[in-house]
Amino acid sequence: MTNLYTILEANFPADRAACAIEAHGQGAPLLYSWADLHHGSGRIANLLAALDLPAGSRLAAQVDKSVEALMLYLACLRAGLVYVPLNTAYRKAEIEYFIGDAKPAVVVCTPANFSWVGKAAFCGGAEVVYTLGDDRSGTLLDRAAHHADDFATLERADGDLAVLLYTSGTTGRSKGAMLTHGNMASNALALRKLWSWRLAPEGSPDDRDTLLHALPLFHIHGLFVAAHGALIAGARQIFLPKLDPAAMLQLLPRCTVMMGVPTYYVRLLAEPGLTRERCAGLRLFVSGSAPLLKETFELWRERTGHTIVERYGMSETVMNTSNPVGGDPALRRPGTVGPAIPGIGVRVVDGSDAPVAADTIGDIQIKGPNVFAGYWQMPDKTAESFTADGWFRTGDVGRLDADGYLSIVGRSKDLIITGGYNVYPKEVESFIDEMPGIAESAVIGLPHADFGEAVVAVVVARPGATVDEAVLIAALKAGIANYKVPKRVFAVEELPRNTMGKVQKNLLRERFAGAV
Ligand code: AMP
Repeated sequence: MTNLYTILEANFPADRAACAIEAHGQGAPLLYSWADLHHGSGRIANLLAALDLPAGSRLAAQVDKSVEALMLYLACLRAGLVYVPLNTAYRKAEIEYFIGDAKPAVVVCTPANFSWVGKAAFCGGAEVVYTLGDDRSGTLLDRAAHHADDFATLERADGDLAVLLYTSGTTGRSKGAMLTHGNMASNALALRKLWSWRLAPEGSPDDRDTLLHALPLFHIHGLFVAAHGALIAGARQIFLPKLDPAAMLQLLPRCTVMMGVPTYYVRLLAEPGLTRERCAGLRLFVSGSAPLLKETFELWRERTGHTIVERYGMSETVMNTSNPVGGDPALRRPGTVGPAIPGIGVRVVDGSDAPVAADTIGDIQIKGPNVFAGYWQMPDKTAESFTADGWFRTGDVGRLDADGYLSIVGRSKDLIITGGYNVYPKEVESFIDEMPGIAESAVIGLPHADFGEAVVAVVVARPGATVDEAVLIAALKAGIANYKVPKRVFAVEELPRNTMGKVQKNLLRERFAGAV
């Protein structure tokens, strides 16, 4: 029965003058104290409260990463508005769609995008449009400067909406996942314990963790896993505007925790300066949002001496599972996303929603306080997404082993049915990725007159290697059932990925349509 912000704030260090966020970007780093975060968000909350909007009004923000952008989010929580973060990569048609769907009363965009985002916002019925640059420019802070910085955070119930988070839509039209204060508070508290965030309520702020935060702030990973995690532990954050391996290497020795999508680890491994010494002070590396290749997991361990903790979550549920932290690093199993987070139910079921035996592939379903309240204004989609007994159908396909470790095999929408046989792309990709000369692969199904769908692989060669389609296909035939072996193999320079590192298979299906 409490506002998420109140729960976060209760964990800020007693020394409010201590550094909460060190922001790198243009020029010298800027230091923000805990008091700055509280008062900055209070000022913006007062501005928003003065608009006198009806309860549950939405505020959509398409802004670059900055501490002020985080304050804007916190201000929405405090003032009881529903925050709608939008990917900075979205262009006109996408912004029009999100504004038309979420109907925000307030839109915040960058000063540079004001002409077209502002137009889309007013046409979509927004009452107010503010601008916010990553250099503290723009009308949001100008207007907020006229307001007081103390704000009495509104009381919220667990079920009240906090965020409308649009799914990344690698397979279809994006849907707005309605996340409540209770969803996110329960998840942040569970992860604080599971990942052993260092709390030092009595100690100096230096005893606390320091998080290297180079993720975007418009996605669950950067906002709800990383930023919430640090805020609810009273930990310091070092903000980088984006993935920047050279800058990250420089900052790593001052950090104890890093979170990234797999691409971050791959890019850091390409830096000769990544050494054990540089990573000696870290205690936790977390990866998620997309599958971490076993090879990356192992290379990281060889180079740094650290075992990455892979976890699994999604916009609709925040985090569901995580490999263990603490204890023997061998408990973190590559290729798995670990057991269920305490308090959360994870099951793998067959087509009739009945749990399957251990090590059997099926649909992943989730139940718990982390599971969202449904899709925004899509009652039919919401109803379809839950079983009769209240489990959320994730759309992911996977298997639980006898110890309760979950492995993700793919998305059910990516499942290929060829000649009546089910092929899970991840399984074939794992075989291809083991082949000499192959860096990575994506397996897709393409329409085929005989088979319904034909299995096709798109591969990226290692530097200096070339891909011989016939040799690869022959090698695969020796290892896996014939129906799983790709009919064709296409080599590309790189796989198309969205900002969170997910391969956009829809683009590959379009590009290679008609090739079989
Ligand atoms: P999003 O809602 O954008 O965070 O996307 C969530 C989806 O990302 C999940 O449903 C999974 O398909 C995928 N995902 C997240 N974490 C992992 C992981 N560790 N391994 C494989 N897939 C993942």
